[in-house]
Amino acid sequence: MPYRAWFQCISGCSETYELNEVVYQCKRCGDLLEVKHDMEKLHRHSPEQWKKLFDERYRRTKWPYGSSVWGKKEWVCPTVSNDNVVSLYEGGSNLFWAERLGREMGIEDLWIKQCGNAHTGSFKDLGMTVLVSMVKQMIADGKNIPAVACASTGDTSAALASYCAAAGILAIVFLPKNKVSLAQLIQPIANGALTLSLDTDFDGCMKLVKEICSKNNIYLANSMNSLRIEGQKTVSIEIVQQFDWEVPDVVIVPGGNLGNTAALGKGFLMMKELGMINKQPRIVCAQAAKANPLYLSYLKDFREFTPVKAQKTLANAIQIGDPVSYKKAINVLKTFNGIVEQATEDELANASAQADKTGLFCCPHTGVALAALAKLLKKNMIRPDERVVVISTAHGLKFPEFKISYHENKLEEVNSRFANLPVEVSPQYDAVRTTIYRKLEQMSSGPSNAAGK
Ligand SMILES: *Cc1c(COP(=O)(O)O)cnc(C)c1O
Ligand SMILES: [Zn+2]
Repeated sequence: MPYRAWFQCISGCSETYELNEVVYQCKRCGDLLEVKHDMEKLHRHSPEQWKKLFDERYRRTKWPYGSSVWGKKEWVCPTVSNDNVVSLYEGGSNLFWAERLGREMGIEDLWIKQCGNAHTGSFKDLGMTVLVSMVKQMIADGKNIPAVACASTGDTSAALASYCAAAGILAIVFLPKNKVSLAQLIQPIANGALTLSLDTDFDGCMKLVKEICSKNNIYLANSMNSLRIEGQKTVSIEIVQQFDWEVPDVVIVPGGNLGNTAALGKGFLMMKELGMINKQPRIVCAQAAKANPLYLSYLKDFREFTPVKAQKTLANAIQIGDPVSYKKAINVLKTFNGIVEQATEDELANASAQADKTGLFCCPHTGVALAALAKLLKKNMIRPDERVVVISTAHGLKFPEFKISYHENKLEEVNSRFANLPVEVSPQYDAVRTTIYRKLEQMSSGPSNAAGK
């Protein structure tokens, strides 16, 4: 008997749908769907058998299991045939012991999960491989799906465009004009997507793409489509696997549309249910203060949730005021003794730059997560002896304008404490030598951020 999975309404109205049905929300009550698995069947493997299987497949070359998403296929999306998997070898990203940064922040056991070291430079690949594979499966089964579309703050569109290009399917991306970085804009263009630049914000793009998809047979790739959450939940499994199946104490993730926060919890819950782990981490969602509806809800013990109008923030991928997955995220945070923290522009930019000075190259969203860590350490809500994993969501190279403006001290509301500008010096031995020794002197006398102002 094969492994089974299906969509199920999260409201408890118990509507279910096949995974190859074009459906994003419950048709009876309108609530979100989630993917459910035949747990009885999964229970027939012991935890040790699953661990062994996942470890044997991890980062090998047997199609499609070397991908860390498809290496856990039975737990993710068993109903796609291997022939229809569209994989670019996602997952398996570096889990980095940030020793020096941790020491500076006053915490010993700090790890950065480098989800941005990925094919399109963000964790979005983890979910998009599942969604596009299912589309390919549906097309193979005879469904008429001429294109796949998404609204995006930059990274979803890059992932969708790449996976669709790999599969030979048209991608249509809805981008808010002048609100994504140049690197994020060029990705779907390069991959041949129909790239729509719309004079609105993310929430405006989202409304439009939903209307286009619901009135035409174009498939919607936003994270209200819970197939993506299934792929993204493998981050939790992968982190635990990388720690030889030990669970960290705290995991911090930056949150915008809140799909990833939901996914993180789902992965841990599934491992717990199948006996793979016997404790659960605290989950922290970090938001930009300019787009903080979940933080505001947290301050009221999640008794209510009110969307906000997102303000412009350097952390553009989380500039979302009306997050689609807030209910799922709140459920996760309640289950995992969760915390929500926020970071100002100054805090996120300096946290990112401080991390860079210890060898990282952080995107602004990772800066939000690191700033949240610093604040929670200060408030004693995270202890310095705890093992903390910060999820780095995108590669810093996607955000060159952010980095350059920071070091030029030109970012609004930011005082660049770690600015490090190139030194113009005449091409002569003495001048170069003097410059080098001036720097060394500054470093031995000044504070640890000797390059700062
Ligand atoms: C999408 C994204 C996020 C936010 O994830 P959500 O699931 O929308 O909360 C954070 N950082 C980066 C770099 C992203 O691309
Ligand atoms: Zn329902």
